[in-house]
This record gives sequence, structure tokens and C-alpha cells, in this order.
Amino acid sequence: MRLTLALLLSLSFACLAQARSKDLQVYFIDVEGGQSTLLVAPSGQTVLIDAGWADNNYRDANRIAAVAKRAKVKKIDYFILTHYHADHAGGVPQLVDRLPVETFIDHGVSRETGANAEHLAAAYQKAIGGKNHIVAKPGDPIPVKGIEGIVVSADGNLITVPLPGAGQQNPYCASTPDKEKDTSENARSLGTVWTFGKFRMVDLGDLTWNKEKELMCPVNRIGKVDVFVVSHHGLDWSNSPALVHAIAPRVAIMDNGAKKGGSPSAVEVLKSSPGLEALWQLHFADAGGKEHNTVDSYIANIEDADTGYYLELTAHEDGSFEVYNPRNKFSRSYPAK
Ligand SMILES: [Zn+2]
Ligand SMILES: [Zn+2]
Repeated sequence: MRLTLALLLSLSFACLAQARSKDLQVYFIDVEGGQSTLLVAPSGQTVLIDAGWADNNYRDANRIAAVAKRAKVKKIDYFILTHYHADHAGGVPQLVDRLPVETFIDHGVSRETGANAEHLAAAYQKAIGGKNHIVAKPGDPIPVKGIEGIVVSADGNLITVPLPGAGQQNPYCASTPDKEKDTSENARSLGTVWTFGKFRMVDLGDLTWNKEKELMCPVNRIGKVDVFVVSHHGLDWSNSPALVHAIAPRVAIMDNGAKKGGSPSAVEVLKSSPGLEALWQLHFADAGGKEHNTVDSYIANIEDADTGYYLELTAHEDGSFEVYNPRNKFSRSYPAK
């Protein structure tokens, strides 16, 4: 009897392991208003997009390492730096102390000057010293096995040819006015589109409003996506209708902090996006009040305290996916369309 049970258990574990290895897992790690997103391809290869902040006694590197452990990830195959800001690049020196990284991908050198920017860039260069390094340009593939990643923006440059299946006139351009020109690193963010079978996800880092328009007007060069990693922590300098409404995500996942991001007007753009089934957030955004936040069950961290909960996405080749909130064990499935 005992043997049978053990056999059954081991069989079901084997099935679970097998089922898991067929999926793409994405972990949205809470770095308190910065970005750190871990992709685990069905091949087992890994991509980490950004590393959160410096300082705080390894807070962000430890959170990344904890999620990596949970995902049975022992190394990062490709680290992608979206841009040289403290909430994305700052954590790299601590990250490399916690997890081995094989190859670093960025948009080239930092374009910002001043003591802080130069210190940040120097610390990043020191941390990646001696490792493989790729400077990515729009149109370049990310050579990870098992999923397809393509660079759509880097160093202020954009893909000029629409991705396969994209290229439709964008009706949301006319209703999206320009904003003031952004000369910061945000506008140089290295943006990527990820495809796994029929599943598509876009992550543009902190790419700002006018660059979004350049990318999306007059024709939509990205096409529609299943998941939109909300740009720039949900700040209203990004997330134009020209981008959000045209890519028409089923699900938006916002890597905001309690006191950073989640601008009410950006949340309005997200909530009014055609076909949006849910907005998920890493934090309740103090900027918004109840009206401009998603419902609690879709929020990883609802109190100000540093609870550090992540969100987990599991995507299947047929385009279906689930999002899971470890705080309250709430999950929702999005069937293939
Ligand atoms: Zn940022
Ligand atoms: Zn930034």
C-alpha cells in the first residue's frame, strides 16, 4: 500500500515537473518601485530584466535570489539592462554577488552625465567586467533557447519594420498628443517583445511617451499582446493610449512601488484599454486611492511595510496563461483565444 502511494506520488511529481518544463514562467519581483523581472524559458534558460536598487543591505538582490531559488534557477543566462537608472541598474553589483550571470545585454554606454549617473554607470561596468557583453540594437534577437525575444527599442532607436503580424494603422495616434521631449535614459530604454508559441508579452522598461508614439505611429509596429509589463512603473510620462490601446493587452502587470508609479491618469489609460481583462500590481499605489488601483486580490503588496511579495505568470504555448499572487494564493487563468 505504502509503495503504491509512494509510486503514485513520484509519478504525479514527475508529471508536475514535466508540465512545468513545457511552460514559460515569469516572475515580477518586488524591488519597491524599480524593475526586476525573471523569465524562465521551458528550456531552463533564464533572462533577468533589471536588478532593482543598490544599497538597502542586499534587499533587492536577496529578493531576486529568493525567487530564483523558488524557480530552481541557479544562474542567469542573459541579464538585460533596460537603462542606466538607479532603480534598474543600481542593484547589478549586489546581484552578481548573489547569482552568477553569464551574459550582459544593454543599449551601450549611459548617455547621462553628472556625478550620480557616472557613479552608477561605473559600478555597472565594474560588475560586468570580464563577462560576456552584448550591445543590442533594435531588431536583434535575444539568443535564449525555447522562447523568442526581440529588441524593439534601444538607445533611442526603434525597429523600423513592424514585427510579423503587426503594421496596422493605429487609430489611437490622433488622440495622443505629444509631451515635452525626454532627454533622459528613460527614452533610451531597451525594450523587448517575448513570444512563446501563441503567447506574447512586451516590456519597454521606462520608455517614455513620445518614443512610444514614434514606435506606434502611424502604424502599430508591435501588434497585439497578451501581457503588457506596464512601462515606467505606471507613471504618466509613459503609457500613452497610442501604445497601450493599440497593443490591447489582455493583462497588464505594473511594477510600481507604494510611493512610486501608478499615476491615476496612467491607470485610467490601462483600465480603458480595449479588451483588458485585468490589471495586476506589485503594490497598492498611494497616488491613486481605491478608485485608481486594481482590486486587492490582484495586488502583491497592499501595505506600506516591506513585505516583498512577487507575482508569478505561467504561459503556455497555446497562448493561455495564469497569474498567481503568492500573498493571498489567488490566481486567475486566461484561456487561449
Ligand atoms: Zn524605473
Ligand atoms: Zn528610468
